[in-house]
Amino acid sequence: MKYVYAFDEGRGNMKNLLGGKGANLAEMKKIGLPVPEGFTITTEACNLYYDENEKMNDDVISQIEQSLAALEKKTGKILGGINSPLLVSVRSGAAISMPGMMDTVLNLGMNDITVQTIAKLSNDERFAMDSYRRFIQMFSDVVLGIEKYNFDLIFDDVKEEKGVQEDTALSADDLKNIIERYKQVVFKHMNKPFPQDPKEQLMMAVEAVFSSWNNPRAKIYRQVNEIPDELGTAVNIQEMVFGNRGQSSGTGVAFTRNPSTGEKALFGEFLMNAQGEDVVAGIRTPLPVSSLKEQNETVYNEFIQTVDKLEKHYKDMQDIEFTIEQGKLFFLQTRTGKRTATAAIKVAVDMVEEGLITKEEAILRINPEEIEKLLHPTFDANALKGAKFLAKGLPASPGAASGKVYFYSEDIVKAKERGEKSVLIRMETSPEDIEGMINAEGILTARGGMTSHAAVVARGMGKCCVAGCHDIKVYENEKYFTVGDKKFYEGDEISLDGNTGDIYEGLIPATKVEFSGHFGKLMQWVDELRTMQVRTNADTPQDAKTAVEFGAEGIGLCRTEHMFFEEDRIPIVRRMILARNIDDRRKALNQLLPIQREDFYKMYLEMGDRPMTVRLLDPPLHEFLPHEDKDIQALSDDFGIDCDVLKAHIGELSEHNPMLGHRGCRLGITYPEIYEMQCRAIFEAAIKATKDTKYTIDVEIMIPLVGNKIELDLMRKLAEDTATKVFEENQTTISFKVGTMIEVPRAALTADSIAENADFFSFGTNDLTQMTLGFSRDDAGKFLPIYKEKEIYERDPFQTLDQTGVGALIEIAVTKARKQKQHLKIGICGEHGGDPRSIEFFAKQGFDYISCSPYRVPVARLAAAQANLK
Ligand code: ADP
Ligand code: MG
Ligand code: MG
Repeated sequence: MKYVYAFDEGRGNMKNLLGGKGANLAEMKKIGLPVPEGFTITTEACNLYYDENEKMNDDVISQIEQSLAALEKKTGKILGGINSPLLVSVRSGAAISMPGMMDTVLNLGMNDITVQTIAKLSNDERFAMDSYRRFIQMFSDVVLGIEKYNFDLIFDDVKEEKGVQEDTALSADDLKNIIERYKQVVFKHMNKPFPQDPKEQLMMAVEAVFSSWNNPRAKIYRQVNEIPDELGTAVNIQEMVFGNRGQSSGTGVAFTRNPSTGEKALFGEFLMNAQGEDVVAGIRTPLPVSSLKEQNETVYNEFIQTVDKLEKHYKDMQDIEFTIEQGKLFFLQTRTGKRTATAAIKVAVDMVEEGLITKEEAILRINPEEIEKLLHPTFDANALKGAKFLAKGLPASPGAASGKVYFYSEDIVKAKERGEKSVLIRMETSPEDIEGMINAEGILTARGGMTSHAAVVARGMGKCCVAGCHDIKVYENEKYFTVGDKKFYEGDEISLDGNTGDIYEGLIPATKVEFSGHFGKLMQWVDELRTMQVRTNADTPQDAKTAVEFGAEGIGLCRTEHMFFEEDRIPIVRRMILARNIDDRRKALNQLLPIQREDFYKMYLEMGDRPMTVRLLDPPLHEFLPHEDKDIQALSDDFGIDCDVLKAHIGELSEHNPMLGHRGCRLGITYPEIYEMQCRAIFEAAIKATKDTKYTIDVEIMIPLVGNKIELDLMRKLAEDTATKVFEENQTTISFKVGTMIEVPRAALTADSIAENADFFSFGTNDLTQMTLGFSRDDAGKFLPIYKEKEIYERDPFQTLDQTGVGALIEIAVTKARKQKQHLKIGICGEHGGDPRSIEFFAKQGFDYISCSPYRVPVARLAAAQANLK
């Protein structure tokens, strides 16, 4: 088995084996970019390490030794060599990029002897010492597990003793002093000196990278991003080039386009005389890449050309790490750049127009889940005018966030548990803060630039972030921050504007964003490629309006019970429910009729020619009645009914299993007058709306919870009879359809006979999931997390359709129904109608439409188009 590949043996498409970093280093080498030599230890070697109880395998070790020998030959240097020592970096790199989650060691190969040689060869003792102190610190942290702050304390001490601000101001002697003190720290922790044998250093570092695959922050990152644990990480061993070799050297990171806005302009930062992560760690304030031109025009031009070549080669925005050693440029990493949803859309659309990719590729590149973020709010412009401005930082990740401030991850998590919205404030973030970042509304840092950890991670999460806000001073330990002489403590409220970098005192209301031209263009392509119709679930004209703005082509589910709950109706609804005889019930229903008619009328006006499926009353009646003693008392006073009598009546109506109780069409069958009133309201509203406008309205009445053909037959007859009456009274007719929800397993299994009398089917996947799995959505919260942990269900079946079980039922139903009625219109109106994975399944089943909540409509449109392209 081959466990080690030289960079020139690899390729860009070997990510699974070589990790993203290794595969791309090989690919960059292949297309002729300046990449330092090296080799990659495969992810399979990592998995072997875990299979063999975290022990380095002998075969792997010997292959590393051989590749090292080859690298030594290629570079003319020797690891630990006295005359010409080779220094390397040991870098982790999984198949899916996990920025900053695992560890890297630079300058490996340094020891008390090689440091002298390097000082001599470079004629720069300071540089040699700087590299050695960095190595001791990184190796101790990553490999020996001695926490970084032990070294930071010493470093800061010496800086203070010398009265200098910047690390670059320390002399070679200062650094020697630091190295001695670092070594003492190591001795104190390890009871033995810092390892001096470079080969031993190398093997220890490789093993540490393997172990880092399972460090807590990497695990959390994988959980959040749904990255499988068994992928493993590769390890890259690469010859060092030095950005810390004086003022003509430097290191930086760059994106080929702006990852926040998508604008086609190089975006990045660098620091001269710096190494590795200095730029992202916010040690000094970095310079924008554009000013590289002033530092060294030749290098700048080469950089621009290479970056352009890279983007054309990969046909996507790249995120690049580079180092300049004494005026010579090297590329150390490239990967597909993480971007905001806004940027993703702009980049994809621009690239189609630049002829780099096709429309189809552009559509497949957008994660449907991301789109929803675009629809979410930004601060209300008027509210913003009156808001109290505090300070300005960098607009690191767009969005709007308001909440209480906290300074530590665990406090954010606790706040979230209390149901509070919070903002995480740090000097700068590090991977340890990841949980806080996930649970906060927004992130504010005092240091760090646009490519700082906070900025990159927040953009990846689509979370609002303001970084590098120098106007605030953060006292993490004391848990407060200041702006001028104003102090803000834990729990104080602030607002962040991720689009401008402005921060404000207090909470600010937010509004939704306008669609930009790029979004519109992409969605137009989406609609051209999509065949399933996208409708929305909406009960109010306002929801309907929003959904239509988002591109809904109709209403797939208009639930009438929400109308019943409104304050002016609930007393009438209760009278209707508590009626002891049909006359009293009809009296109440007659009062409800004009109200319902008006509701439907408004909905029809809002929807115009677009279809609307109205579902007749579904929930069990006791849901409309009060349960608390004091509320029952109030109702008894109101209705003039004796309280005990009322209590007894409510008791009669209560159920042990309301989900399976007296609801859905069972209501229509036992109290036909209720459904009759609803049908009448619908027909009358449709007739009036048709008269008042030029719209062609096609009424769609949907019967809930049918499990038996006869139920539907009876309810269909009721609707038809009502229609005949209403049409006669109005001397007009209107076309209408009667369909049913398929949400009881028996309905799915007998779909052929049910289809006989149905004009359409709409799968109610919420109830169908509950009844198929046999657990209710409201109670599943108690055990679902454990079920997911044990992988009994891979995903929450109420979010993503359980294709194996519920999906099988749907397949049976569709097949049987279409055999009976070839062109039966079939849709879905459960929560799953807005879930991209489920949508792919519905497309495969040949559904005509999906229906989802208004904010999911664009997500569903995109997912429906992608389903056709996959
Ligand atoms: P991460 O996965 O956290 O980005 P990397 O392995 O990319 O970690 O290493 C971080 C940084 O270390 C790189 O961006 C680069 O600046 C520096 N680095 C890594 N290898 C080398 C090398 N061979 N020569 C010079 N710098 C290096
Ligand atoms: Mg990197
Ligand atoms: Mg239902």
